[in-house]
Amino acid sequence: MTVQIADELARLHRLVSWFEVPLNLPSSALAGEACVWCVSPVDGTSVELEPSTPLPRWGCMPCYSARLAWYVSWYDWHRHFDTCLHCQQRRTCYIGHGRRVLHEQTMGPIDKHPECFICPSPLLAGDLVGPVRWEGDSRLYLGYAHLRCMTGRPSSR
Ligand SMILES: [Zn+2]
Ligand SMILES: [Zn+2]
Ligand SMILES: [Zn+2]
Repeated sequence: MTVQIADELARLHRLVSWFEVPLNLPSSALAGEACVWCVSPVDGTSVELEPSTPLPRWGCMPCYSARLAWYVSWYDWHRHFDTCLHCQQRRTCYIGHGRRVLHEQTMGPIDKHPECFICPSPLLAGDLVGPVRWEGDSRLYLGYAHLRCMTGRPSSR
């Protein structure tokens, strides 16, 4: 069990390191002296990001854990959605809804603006929405789609 948790954390750590670091970093972050997200000075609680380089990249604890929370709660929601009959049949599911709410709470602090991967328009609180995962241009995307869009019917624009 501990091994699984360690593996899972290592996997999420790589996702945060690869996909969440901004493309254009200020020189202090490139020099390994500042957090890649908020540019606060590196200290003893900072987390070293992958891949390890001679000048390592760092995330401060608040910035790093905010992003990790987004990934953890997305996978919690996805794991439920994938195996729950209610969610699969587009019926009201309180557990699924709860996971969605928990996940949405992690978006504000890291400025994520969710939209439907298929139509694509913003996700409103009253919309039925599910987590979707897809791969494109050699990277992995985690996102969302309206359940009405997932049915495979052409989207009405
Ligand atoms: Zn930071
Ligand atoms: Zn469900
Ligand atoms: Zn949609």
